[in-house]
Amino acid sequence: MTRIIDGNEVADGITAALEDSIEELKSAGVTPSLATVLMSDDGASETYVSMKQRTCEELGIDGIHHQLDASAPAEELFDVVDELNADPDVNGILVQMPVPDHVDNAAVLRRIEPMKDVDGFHPENVGRLVAGDPRFKPCTPHGVQKLLEAADVETEGAEAVVVGRSDIVGKPMANLLIQKAPGGNATTTVCHSRTKDLAEKTREADIVIAAAGYPELIDGSMIGEGAVVIDVGVNRVEADTEKGYKLVGDVDFESAKPVAGAITPVPGGVGPMTIAMLMYNTVKAASIQSGVDVEL
Ligand code: NDP
Repeated sequence: MTRIIDGNEVADGITAALEDSIEELKSAGVTPSLATVLMSDDGASETYVSMKQRTCEELGIDGIHHQLDASAPAEELFDVVDELNADPDVNGILVQMPVPDHVDNAAVLRRIEPMKDVDGFHPENVGRLVAGDPRFKPCTPHGVQKLLEAADVETEGAEAVVVGRSDIVGKPMANLLIQKAPGGNATTTVCHSRTKDLAEKTREADIVIAAAGYPELIDGSMIGEGAVVIDVGVNRVEADTEKGYKLVGDVDFESAKPVAGAITPVPGGVGPMTIAMLMYNTVKAASIQSGVDVEL
């Protein structure tokens, strides 16, 4: 029987464990805090940010939110980031991506103080991850790693295929999988839009991680019998629903499920893990910055 890996359940376990660390920090006079910055009027981005802020509230993490007009000059965003960098009461800073086209995305990531970069996208933190000494692991790939661990999936020696090579998911995912560390040691192949025969690669994999942003790209015929399938994709497709759309992953769940040994659903798979790992990084940032050691 195919196992459905329940991301909500695993994420709840992670946030429940974090509550103890947050209590410990608070009793030492430190309240972890996360600042989110949104420079967009995109509905999906607004939803992501409000979910992050809601989880902060539930866990007793101080949540601060800055909303900027999508047409505001880039300098306005940089000023907010500078202000948050300098504020000793702010432990973590997250600028919700994507930013508008007139803002240099890479410049925003470089502007965030690396010790407060809870997304783990600053070049210093990317470098540390690649060098095998991560400070803040990027939330989505870290969440996938935790999901695999919770589902008792052995990565060591496994053939893993990551579909997608973005800076926020595919590349850090591959980096985590090849680390000489628990949750790593996998023989890892990274596929992208120029890969010649994607199905040939995914079919050979023990673990397939789909992060292409292409609705239902990977179907059952592309999965090896018994493979573990982690679907990172979140795609809005037109549907006869109240909202006029529904969310689907990068995997065609119905055809992949009977072939896979274990699979994550969309929604309810990787999504909740991303938020849980953001909270984890925020607590870690508060611990590092305050010097108050807590179990993480
Ligand atoms: P990007 O668009 O930045 O990257 C997509 C990657 O997939 C690129 O490397 C691209 O290749 C590759 N790709 C696209 N189409 C194909 C194809 N047909 N065959 C093979 N490779 C392909 O996306 P992100 O990494 O930011 O996000 C990926 C998905 O994950 C999205 O659906 C996004 O919404 C979702 N997501 C979900 C999160 C969660 O918490 N659940 C968090 C973050 C993202 P190339 O480089 O050649 O263009």
